[in-house]
Amino acid sequence: MKNVYLDNASTTKIRKEVIQEMTTILADDYGNPSSTHSLGRNAKSILELSRKSIAKQLKCTSQEIIFTSCGTESNNWILHSAVKDLKVRRIITSKIEHHAVLHVVQALQNEYNIQVDYVSIKPNGEIDFNDLVELLSQEIKTLVSLMHVNNEIGTVLDLYKVGRICKQHNALFHSDTVQSVGKTEINLQEIPIDFIVASAHKFHGPKGVGFAFVRRKSGLRPLFYGGEQEKGLRPGTEGVHQIAGMAMALELSYANLESDRKHISNLKSYLINQLELTFPEYKINGNEDGFYTVLNVMLPFSEDKTAMILFHLDMKGIAVSRGSACQSGSISPSHVLDEILSKEDSIKPSLRISFSHYNTKDDIDILIECLKNLA
Ligand code: PLP
Repeated sequence: MKNVYLDNASTTKIRKEVIQEMTTILADDYGNPSSTHSLGRNAKSILELSRKSIAKQLKCTSQEIIFTSCGTESNNWILHSAVKDLKVRRIITSKIEHHAVLHVVQALQNEYNIQVDYVSIKPNGEIDFNDLVELLSQEIKTLVSLMHVNNEIGTVLDLYKVGRICKQHNALFHSDTVQSVGKTEINLQEIPIDFIVASAHKFHGPKGVGFAFVRRKSGLRPLFYGGEQEKGLRPGTEGVHQIAGMAMALELSYANLESDRKHISNLKSYLINQLELTFPEYKINGNEDGFYTVLNVMLPFSEDKTAMILFHLDMKGIAVSRGSACQSGSISPSHVLDEILSKEDSIKPSLRISFSHYNTKDDIDILIECLKNLA
């Protein structure tokens, strides 16, 4: 049985070159980057070259890249410190953010009694810009936190546009870019944005490592205290092999971006075509022109199939997802679909199919064949 992995928004397969690089560093470059002897200096040099390489891909300075353990940590750090240290009194976000933002904002609201406003979402999953401008007209120290690419439905936010609106209203702008870093060009020299975050396992790098971009002179302070690593902003001995693996994965993602994007976009079009032919009544959840790596569809199956569908696909070796990763296999409706669909539709069987360059047409044919048997 061929394994078909179509759950790349949850995590991606690590590249062989990245494993090779990480294994070599684990075996040979085991110095502590804070040590002054040659092994330490060597580790430090790997760290700084990695930082430089990441900064180059995103067109920012090396000093603006801070290594963390994941996207969740980066979001927590930025949002916490914005409230605690930058004295943000209000956060504007949306109800379709990942829980790594939504739950943090809710915790901050409880702990610091800040104001939280949720910008309206249109039925296609896009934000309502008029509502954002209207919310920003209130004069109160504000941070806007809106994700770049939605992990469940693939809607894309115009970072330039939101950045300009935030600048005009003197608001800070943070974006959870976990789904877009490595999959689309991000030019931090041009985008008026204060903070973005990334996670290596979403772009064929290792799990347990990520980074935050923090614009110069941000005034952020650490989430916790210890040594002087990452200029004291993120203490703890750095996972040198993880960081080097992440930098290499990002470099390879951007080196292959054009051809991978073309390949994946073709696969997505092929899947849409096959769905139209096989299940003419299927619907796309969110925007039809969503990000090329994700497709979220509602299948014209009876509701009692909702709970079993992932299980049946799994039995055939097919990995897809329903909503975000933490909800895979659960039958509670996704908070994102809940927000954009009617009550009736949100309990119907929906699937999130997410691609990588490793996928082939064959994978799509196997998925469609299996779905046909379930209908
Ligand atoms: N933000 C988004 C949009 C995500 O898709 C994810 C992962 O599912 C995260 C944050 C969390 O990232 P990490 O797994 O690195 O904590």
